[in-house]
Amino acid sequence: MAIALQAKSYTGAVGAAHLTLCRTGATVREAVSRTSDELYAEACRLIPGGVNSPVRSWTAVGGRPLFVQRAHGTEVVDVDGRSYLDFVGSWGPLLLGHAHPAVIAAIAERARHGTSFGAPTPGEVQLAKLLVDALPSLEQVRLVSSGTEATMSALRLARASTGRDPIVKFAGCYHGHVDALLVRAGSGALTLGVPDSPGVPAALAALTLTADFNDTAGMRELLRRRGRDIAAVIVEPVAANMGVVPPAPGFLEALREETSRAGALLVFDEVVTGFRVGWGGAQGRYGIAPDLTCLGKIIGGGLPLAAFGGRRDLMERLAPTGPVYQAGTLSGNPLSVAAGLETLTKVREMRGAYDRLDELGALAERGLVEAALAADVAACVNRVGSMLTLFLGVERVSDYDGARRSDTARFARFFRGMLDEGIYLPPSQFEAMFVSLAHTEGDIERLARAARKVLMDS
Ligand SMILES: *Cc1c(COP(=O)(O)O)cnc(C)c1O
Repeated sequence: MAIALQAKSYTGAVGAAHLTLCRTGATVREAVSRTSDELYAEACRLIPGGVNSPVRSWTAVGGRPLFVQRAHGTEVVDVDGRSYLDFVGSWGPLLLGHAHPAVIAAIAERARHGTSFGAPTPGEVQLAKLLVDALPSLEQVRLVSSGTEATMSALRLARASTGRDPIVKFAGCYHGHVDALLVRAGSGALTLGVPDSPGVPAALAALTLTADFNDTAGMRELLRRRGRDIAAVIVEPVAANMGVVPPAPGFLEALREETSRAGALLVFDEVVTGFRVGWGGAQGRYGIAPDLTCLGKIIGGGLPLAAFGGRRDLMERLAPTGPVYQAGTLSGNPLSVAAGLETLTKVREMRGAYDRLDELGALAERGLVEAALAADVAACVNRVGSMLTLFLGVERVSDYDGARRSDTARFARFFRGMLDEGIYLPPSQFEAMFVSLAHTEGDIERLARAARKVLMDS
């Protein structure tokens, strides 16, 4: 009786899931502990902050994260049975939306025949070929498991190839949690106010010079003064981890010119932008060829996979052809490769996928701008293709300092208001919203309507 009553207090499919649990012998107490509140309390005892990556924490906006039960297309359902229209997209990878049937089928089919061999597989060659064909600056590529590994390895290779140690990064750009790159870093480090992490040896941080994103004159000056000592300049060609900040006209061109002149390598961190802002990434969109490129997110189709690649003469310095050591037990994991290949194949078959993403992105931009205007709220929307950020309290954001001037308290209210309207946004002012190919015009209209209501009410 108690069990039946308990199950009834839940709705729909979630209720059924609890019933199943109870029938298969789990206690009622265990079933009840599956609410988001209880899971969060338990998670906080077992996992720092209850999350396995700090961007998932809602520290900046208040409250606790959703515990997700399932997601299909653009709909995310939490363990309490509430459903949300999703604009997080797992932070970028899900270009086709959640649980695309073809991607799930490819993973399942691959899994039936083994999940990891520690030996080469045909899929790795196929994916490498696809990446090299899509990005003309890539002659060779190596697969790894996370964006962090990709940037870390690219830096090691750049240092070994140039025989120089110092590197340059831009304030507000995020390149994973690599020691040397946690200096004036974006993403969760910026959201949580720890852009320079403790635990990074001062001697190492001293080798990371920083410049301001979009400050072409400042970057030129630095590279003319120090360029001959510098191994590499790493940049997000479209910054996406201080909120979206597009490159100013001429900025990337000047960067290419100055790094070449100094003999420093130009590393594009396209972990977000690769296959997001175009089939050829940001380098295709802006027509700049970097020496090395880092990829991640979309190329794994929602499973852990990343890559770095570039000029053959550089890449062949990697072990086993060269002396620069880099390795990984699960690198090029067959399931991840299957998910990535299927995702990219579907996108390519679609033809016009990037025009469609641009169209939906533009619609979202217009909707958010109009919402802010209607509510008479100072704001700006930065967008490149299908990634965008609504900055509140500022009229223009073109760099790290501009992003930091935005009204994060107002953003927190906006985030919570949107959640009440059933819209799931990234829980930070300094992150990108992602539109996927699963979104419809109707979804974007719903976003715009909700934003208008929430901005007017709060
Ligand atoms: C997400 C991200 C990374 C880090 O990738 P992980 O897979 O989280 O390690 C690196 N660079 C950029 C630009 C990113 O957005």
